[in-house]
Amino acid sequence: MLQLLDVAKSYDGVTPALAGIDLHVDAGEIVCLLGPSGCGKTTLLRLVAGLEQPDRGRLLLNGRDLTHTPVHRRKFGLMFQEFALFPHRSVGENIAFGLRMAGMSAAQINSRVDEMLALVNLHGYAGRTVFALSGGERQRVALARSLAPNPQLLMLDEPLGSLDRALREELMTELRAILKRVGVTALYVTHDQQEAYAIGDRLVVMNRGRIEQVGTPQQVYRMPANAFVARFLGFQNLVPATAAPGEPARVTTPVGEFVLPAAPADGVADKGPAMLLIRPEAALSLSALPPGPIAPRATAPTLDGQLAALSFRGSHYRAEIALSIAHEPVRFVFDLPAPLPAPAESTAQPAIGATVRITLDPIQMILLHTG
Ligand code: ADP
Repeated sequence: MLQLLDVAKSYDGVTPALAGIDLHVDAGEIVCLLGPSGCGKTTLLRLVAGLEQPDRGRLLLNGRDLTHTPVHRRKFGLMFQEFALFPHRSVGENIAFGLRMAGMSAAQINSRVDEMLALVNLHGYAGRTVFALSGGERQRVALARSLAPNPQLLMLDEPLGSLDRALREELMTELRAILKRVGVTALYVTHDQQEAYAIGDRLVVMNRGRIEQVGTPQQVYRMPANAFVARFLGFQNLVPATAAPGEPARVTTPVGEFVLPAAPADGVADKGPAMLLIRPEAALSLSALPPGPIAPRATAPTLDGQLAALSFRGSHYRAEIALSIAHEPVRFVFDLPAPLPAPAESTAQPAIGATVRITLDPIQMILLHTG
C-alpha cells in the first residue's frame, strides 16, 4: 500500500538523517519504526506525513506518487505530540475537529463521535473537558480524534511516551486491539522494544538513518540481523568470535570455544569479524567451582566467571556473571530455570563473588555480524 523508494533526507546538507530508505507497508499492517534517539524515525514519519520533503527518492500510495502532495491532501491521521488536544475544549469537540473540517453534518458528526468514544472505551465522555482527563484517557481521545476521519494511513509518534510504565503496559495491548479492529494501516514510532513487540506486525530497526533489520517481532527477537540490533534489543552477552575455516559452526571466543548446532545464516562466518550472542536463556545450570585451580571443562559448553549478583524473579533466577574479555571487565546476564539446580555436592546457593560455572545450551547461541 505504502512504498518508500530510496528516500533520503539531510537537514544540514552533510549528515544524512535518512540515507536511502526502502520500505513497504501492506494494507492493514502495523509497522513499528524502532531505534535509538536520533536514528531518523521521526524524520521518516514526517516525510510520509508530508511535513518534510525528501532530498531524494519517492513515496507511493497504492502506486500513486505522493512525494509532492501537500499534508492536508494526503488525508493521513497523525497522532503526534505537536498536535496535542485542545485543552479547553470538550472531548467531543476535539474528536469532531477533523470531521467538521471534512464538512460532515452535525448529526453525522455526533454519531461518529459516539462511535469513536465507544471504540476507545470512553463511552459517555463527550461532554468532559480535556483538562479533567488522566494521561491515559487523553491518549485515548487523541487516538479517537486521529481515527475519526477514517484515515487511509495512521501515523503515531511515541503515543505512549508520556505515560508511566504500568499505564503504558496496559494501553499497549489495547492500542493494538483498537488499530486491528479498525483495520487501519499504521506507522508507529517508538524507542521501546517491548512496546514495538506488543504493537507491531512488523518491526523496522533503524540506526543512523538506515534500516538495520525488518521482520516480525518474533523474527527480530529470534534472529537479530547483527550485534547492533541485538544490543538495541537489550541483549548483553556478546563476545567477539571467529569461526574455524571450513567449519563455520565451530567458533572461538575469548571466553571459550563453542560448537553451534547449525552453521550461521547468511555466511556471517565468512565475512570477517563476528560476534557471538549468548542468549540469557542459554543457561541450563549454575554451580560453584571449588577453590583452587579451575577444573578442565566438561563436555557440555560452559562459561566460568565470578557470580556478581543473583536474584529470584519468580519464574527464574537472574544471575550476573563478571568476566574479563581482553582485559576489560564485562558482565553477562543469564536467566536460570527456577528452582536453581543445586550442585550435587551441596544444596547451598553459591555465594556472591564465588567462581561459578554456567552450563550452556548451544541452541541459544548465534553468530552475528558485528553491526
Ligand atoms: P529519532 O526520531 O529517531 O530520534 P530524528 O528523525 O528526530 O530521530 O532525527 C534524525 C537526525 O536528524 C538527528 O541527528 C537529528 O538531530 C536531526 N534532526 C531532526 N530534526 C531536525 C531539524 N528540524 N533540524 C535539524 N536537524 C534535525
